[in-house]
Amino acid sequence: MNDRRRWGIALTLAVLTLWAQPLLPQGDYAPPPTPRFVVLVDPGHGGADPGACAGGIEEKDVVLEIARRVQRMSLAYPDVEILLTRRTDVFVPLADRAEIANRIDGDAFVSIHINAHSIPSVGGVETLVDRGAANDSGSVQLAAALQSSVAGRMDLRDRGVKRAELFLHRAEMPAALLEVGFLTNAAERALLTDPAYQDTVAGAILEGILRFADGR
Ligand SMILES: [Zn+2]
Repeated sequence: MNDRRRWGIALTLAVLTLWAQPLLPQGDYAPPPTPRFVVLVDPGHGGADPGACAGGIEEKDVVLEIARRVQRMSLAYPDVEILLTRRTDVFVPLADRAEIANRIDGDAFVSIHINAHSIPSVGGVETLVDRGAANDSGSVQLAAALQSSVAGRMDLRDRGVKRAELFLHRAEMPAALLEVGFLTNAAERALLTDPAYQDTVAGAILEGILRFADGR
């Protein structure tokens, strides 16, 4: 091949390459990531604040176990991302819990607690929303999804969705506080400290979250 032909071919290739450039994928081609439904799950209390105490069991430990399970189980659902306000036995101020949810721009905030009552026979599952939450608000829809899922799966009394003066009004997204049973009720305390039952509660909470996310 003479020099003129070689240069001719090189020029043609250069022009073709420049012309074809915009048609070629830039870098690794991948579909855009699907938007994830981000939920901040908040195990109540922690550190110097044990929450309810009965029969040598502290609320802060049981709710942390349940919250961790919710997060672990959620890994099977790529469309939902569960983040925790605490992963260890530390105290997080109430204002900070809601503030974390706002900072990560979460789609929902779910606080997990265990109830207590001076009468040991009192028991059941209830979900609280802020006193000011409107009936058609996301918070009430989230609470209803959680309450029906958890009370439906647990063989405990369904105490329904209630309103209370809470820190939840600080969260700028649907927010609910779940009381998964009574620590002062010996039968419920035995259930809540059983790892298999904690799995069931966590599965029910995740199911409620997924049902709420589906309806969004
Ligand atoms: Zn509590």
